[in-house]
Amino acid sequence: MGSGIGALMEDLGAALAAGGTEVKMLGGGQPARIPAMEEVWRNQLSTLMDAGPAGMARIATCYDPPRGNASFLAAVAALLRREYGWDIGPEHIAVTAGGQTAFYFLFNLLAGAMPDGTERKILLPLVPEYIGYAGLSAGGPMFQSVEPRIQMFDEHEFKYRVDFDSLRVGPDTGAICASRPTNPTGNVLTDSEVRRLAGLAGEAGVPMILDNAYGFPFPGILFNEVEPFWEPHVVLTFSLSKIGLPGCRTGLVVGPPEIIRALGSMSAMIGLANPNLGQAVVQSLVESGEILRLSREVVMPYYASRCESARAAALEIFGERFAWRMHRSEGALFLWFWFPGLPVPAEMLYQRLKRRNVLVVPGEHFFFGTPQTAHSRECLRVSYAMAPEIVRAGLKIIAEEVEAVWAEAK
Ligand code: PLP
Repeated sequence: MGSGIGALMEDLGAALAAGGTEVKMLGGGQPARIPAMEEVWRNQLSTLMDAGPAGMARIATCYDPPRGNASFLAAVAALLRREYGWDIGPEHIAVTAGGQTAFYFLFNLLAGAMPDGTERKILLPLVPEYIGYAGLSAGGPMFQSVEPRIQMFDEHEFKYRVDFDSLRVGPDTGAICASRPTNPTGNVLTDSEVRRLAGLAGEAGVPMILDNAYGFPFPGILFNEVEPFWEPHVVLTFSLSKIGLPGCRTGLVVGPPEIIRALGSMSAMIGLANPNLGQAVVQSLVESGEILRLSREVVMPYYASRCESARAAALEIFGERFAWRMHRSEGALFLWFWFPGLPVPAEMLYQRLKRRNVLVVPGEHFFFGTPQTAHSRECLRVSYAMAPEIVRAGLKIIAEEVEAVWAEAK
């Protein structure tokens, strides 16, 4: 069976191989390689190498329990209790082989065909949402989603807001799910939106899943003050990827113990145990709280500065050449552009940009669980994790191509 994300990843990989160093890779979710963080990983790894039987020797030679290493789970629970005052113990936490795997488990546990014969869905209260969710159903169609309201700030800046009037939590809802910050838009659901969604989930007796791949507690790529949020029926997912360890494939899920036990069983059935290197690399940083300081003082400012230079470049390069808007950047690694009235679908703009060695992701892929609309075909996601000169060069070519499609339409 094919999937949008699979085809796109193949496409991006092939273009990269053919285009070599000419390619402006603004398409993937690859986090930046931040020198100060790479230094931290080197030190942590070298400490583990020198730690004798309790260090690398244990990591490489032992299966951990399927829910994760017990001392790591205890360290994470202690961090969340200490930092946020949440009533969380190790029984509320499971490790998975990356956040992506956590979502495969969670969605298929909470939605699809239920043991009582009913079918349940995952409700996305706001699309565009993370492309990686789209193909995760082990059965039939799994998502119900709601188009956003659009709040304009000025001619070039807008923000998506949850359209609560169109949101229906029904008997077929298995869970509500949102990423915060959102991939692809850099949107951060407001504190009141989060509380209201959690309230609706609570009333319906279903979990609310908040995907914190870019958010609290690490990597904390959030540019405004927002409240960390958890309640006993809320499932939080975290990942070590965006703080700089995507190759370690380590995800974390915090939630009700019955869900956590089920995730442990799923890990055991699918993979026996989870990768343990990432857990070991960050264990002492979690115990000391250093992982939060690194997020706050190194990772977040790094992306905030990349974001600022990408936004300034867009304002300068796009100027008043054509109609364009960008989503307010409140976190994560992406700019989300909207070209109102674009004469060709974003998918076609993507193909034209690919021929010019600029890789982005067209908007259509992020709208699922709902029919495509004119708006979904007018948007592009652009990553700013690459060096500012590459992002700038890519934006120049995007501007030329948008101008060209307008000129051809006349
Ligand atoms: N959630 C979101 C919103 C993401 O953007 C990603 C990856 O890009 C993931 C989850 C999964 O990340 P990983 O499997 O690397 O933890």
